[in-house]
Amino acid sequence: MNWKTWSQPKGAHMRDDFRFEVPGWRPTTTLLYGLMPRGWGTGDVESVKSYEMSLAFEHRLAVTKLRRFVAGRARFDERFVCEAELKNLIVATGRTELNACSLRCLESVVGNVLGDPTKRVCFDCCRADLRQPGAKSYGRLLWEIPEVTCCPIHKKQLLKPQCGRSTGNRKHAFGFLRRITMFGVCAECGALGYRCSQQKQERASIEEVQIAQMLTGLVADLTEISLTAPESVKRAVRRLLAQNGGLVAVAQQANMNKSTLSRWLSQSSARMRLKNFVALAHALKVDLSELLQGRVTHVSLRALRIKRASYNFVDPEVARKALADALRCEQSMHVVRQVTGFDYRALRRVDPDICEQLIDRERHRRLTLKQQRYSSIAKEVLSAARTLHARGVTLTNRNTELLPGGRWGPVQTRSRFLSLFRRALGDECIPSVPNMPIDPEMERAVNEAVATYNAETAARGKVP
Ligand SMILES: [Zn+2]
Ligand SMILES: [Zn+2]
Repeated sequence: MNWKTWSQPKGAHMRDDFRFEVPGWRPTTTLLYGLMPRGWGTGDVESVKSYEMSLAFEHRLAVTKLRRFVAGRARFDERFVCEAELKNLIVATGRTELNACSLRCLESVVGNVLGDPTKRVCFDCCRADLRQPGAKSYGRLLWEIPEVTCCPIHKKQLLKPQCGRSTGNRKHAFGFLRRITMFGVCAECGALGYRCSQQKQERASIEEVQIAQMLTGLVADLTEISLTAPESVKRAVRRLLAQNGGLVAVAQQANMNKSTLSRWLSQSSARMRLKNFVALAHALKVDLSELLQGRVTHVSLRALRIKRASYNFVDPEVARKALADALRCEQSMHVVRQVTGFDYRALRRVDPDICEQLIDRERHRRLTLKQQRYSSIAKEVLSAARTLHARGVTLTNRNTELLPGGRWGPVQTRSRFLSLFRRALGDECIPSVPNMPIDPEMERAVNEAVATYNAETAARGKVP
């Protein structure tokens, strides 16, 4: 096939610059360049913020200037892309695909979708972008979701980029030579792919990677999810709750407030936060993206791979067993929390009675220990008082240097006991208002010792 005849429109003729000119046909023009958001339709889709930076760069404009222009009369927010700004951006570029570059399309179901205003990146992803010839790195929508803490591809923690170059090499002191604001470019020294940075990305835990993978699926399916009616999501969740032992059981398993869940189900306009949907999808063992599309008929394999994240998901069976073991083996709540990784609130929700018993027992054990310790100190003070009395010296802190162990330090508990002991004996040198609150147990131990001492002195007085 000849390239001249291939796909040549009817009546067209070639211009000098090798472009076809079709009579009566004008290309559609947009106010701003209609750049295609990168990674569209995948989990690596570009965020609107990053898109605006690229667009400003192509137009040779400052990002703030472009954003102000796009936002128009709407209030312009430095950290978030507001609703009017996104709407105008779509009109100005003619790119309806931008709808799926922001979590705003979930607004009918998910509450508080503004995301994380701090810029977090995966350095490995930014540098991998640069390996394609002529490509620039860009910011992923995934990195703006607060629940995502790591990169699902490189399995490393996301970081806030910081310039690692010394101040002398940054050369940004001149106001008119500002660095361009682009994703993947260090704002301080202009290094591409943040190559200047010395930060090391820590390895992410399995749970973090699994949550990131779950949300990658969500980001990839944003277009489909945005077309789903909120009522169909609720209907699907109701059906799943009925299959999985009811609302209370599932809320407990997902470690979420059951009133949050019931309110969302009962009120048609109610929304839930994304983290609650993540917990719910895990507890119900379904894929998050499918859940938000209201089509969950089978147990998804993707969700099954997501294991229990200890900080959020509680298995009631494991919790109940650990609590029962602790009750039998005389262990404290602290041990249960360490062994299971569940927090106190979650454990209490599983079995409040055992928790109460464990806490009572722990309180009692501590009280007994304290009483033992105080009574031994009181005995020491009593014997010191006897010794000093026998040697005919007054009972003062300084005179304790005559005792076998040497002088008592001023911050020692026994010195405090000694003061209380002297005051109880009627020593005028001790101020009656102590500068510290007195523990009732401490007072009881001292009073017992004083009573013994007084009885002994009285007995000695009678004998001669
Ligand atoms: Zn990465
Ligand atoms: Zn730098």
